[in-house]
Amino acid sequence: MKRTTGQNREITSKWRPATQAIRGGTWRSEHGETSEAIFLTSGYCYDDAQTVAVRFAGEQEGMTYSRLQNPTVQMLEERIALIEGAEAARCQASGMAAMTAALLCQLKAGDHVVAAKAAFGSCRWLTDTLLPKFGIETTAIDAFINEEWEKAIRPNTKLFFFETPANPTMDLVDMDYVCGLAKSRGIVTVVDNAFATPVLQRPLDYGADIVAYSATKLMDGQGRVLAGAICGKAEFINDVLMPFQRNTGPTLSPFNAWVVLKGMETLELRALRQSESALAVGRFMEKRVPKILHPGLESHPQYVLAQKQMRACGPIFSFILDGGREQAHALLNALELIDISNNIGDSRSLMTHPASTTHHGVGAETREAMGVVEGMLRLNVGLEDPQDIIEDLDQALTSIGL
Ligand SMILES: *Cc1c(COP(=O)(O)O)cnc(C)c1O
Repeated sequence: MKRTTGQNREITSKWRPATQAIRGGTWRSEHGETSEAIFLTSGYCYDDAQTVAVRFAGEQEGMTYSRLQNPTVQMLEERIALIEGAEAARCQASGMAAMTAALLCQLKAGDHVVAAKAAFGSCRWLTDTLLPKFGIETTAIDAFINEEWEKAIRPNTKLFFFETPANPTMDLVDMDYVCGLAKSRGIVTVVDNAFATPVLQRPLDYGADIVAYSATKLMDGQGRVLAGAICGKAEFINDVLMPFQRNTGPTLSPFNAWVVLKGMETLELRALRQSESALAVGRFMEKRVPKILHPGLESHPQYVLAQKQMRACGPIFSFILDGGREQAHALLNALELIDISNNIGDSRSLMTHPASTTHHGVGAETREAMGVVEGMLRLNVGLEDPQDIIEDLDQALTSIGL
């Protein structure tokens, strides 16, 4: 039976992203199933004792245990690697499992990290609370200022870590400059690309070494499962990340991998459509609120950089009300269509108040320093008709006197 070309890199690497997202990585069993199969199995059986011995010795390809490999998870890994333009990728159980593994697998006591101040709350916890326990120090900087990166480098700086756009301040990092600086000093760059996905921005094209994902967000895209991924050179994935992953076990479940495989099929369509809708909704909001932060709007201080390094600017923007937490909560409570929810990348429009949710844990002082003020709200623009989203915002703003 003609199986599929989805596992043949020579063929798949020539496809365009929309094709890779549907056919890349697909492997068919002897049944010739159209849609990828879910291999819900923890272990594997062998024809004889010799086969299992050579597999464990690494002398023969093949599955040994689902903490290490699983056919469904491998299909997703190959698909993500292809779209990212990476040699290899490994999936993790969640975005935070991916961030933790990407850092811990290669850092050791005595190393120094330079990280963006503006980051997802749990990413800040990794650098501020977890890494110091193991003797790894981090300098948190205003990452949108190029000179700050160079100033923060020490002789023992091992790694740069940032998001662009950052959650929820929407600050960008100039990847060409920062990754180039890192390369010239022998520093590894890890980019958390959750807000963009490879459809909107490919950090490896700008010289990043490692790209880490919360696949929970746009890759699943329908708010169903938690998932994560790490992309990079095959040598890093196989020799540095794999020993960490096989022995610590932040492995993605085959079922969740299958859900994300299905999400990937529509990733480009959704990411571009939601980006377009976010701009339309953002243009409406610009006239109604004191401040809005979206790299696709001309008012964003890094608009020119966004045009250079992003294909489109994504479904998420933040805005700031003058009335602090009280007014922000009042607006949330007045919404009729948009849900109050701290998730992003979903096909549904969702709004959250970062200071009391995603960034509650980092504390008031750190929030202030990264620009997460009490009046800030973050909106994920979904796949609904943008006019309905605008009308909901209009009625909610009117009802609180704005
Ligand atoms: C959501 C998110 C994460 C964490 O991902 P989970 O899948 O929720 O663990 C990490 N970084 C960024 C930028 C995120 O938005």
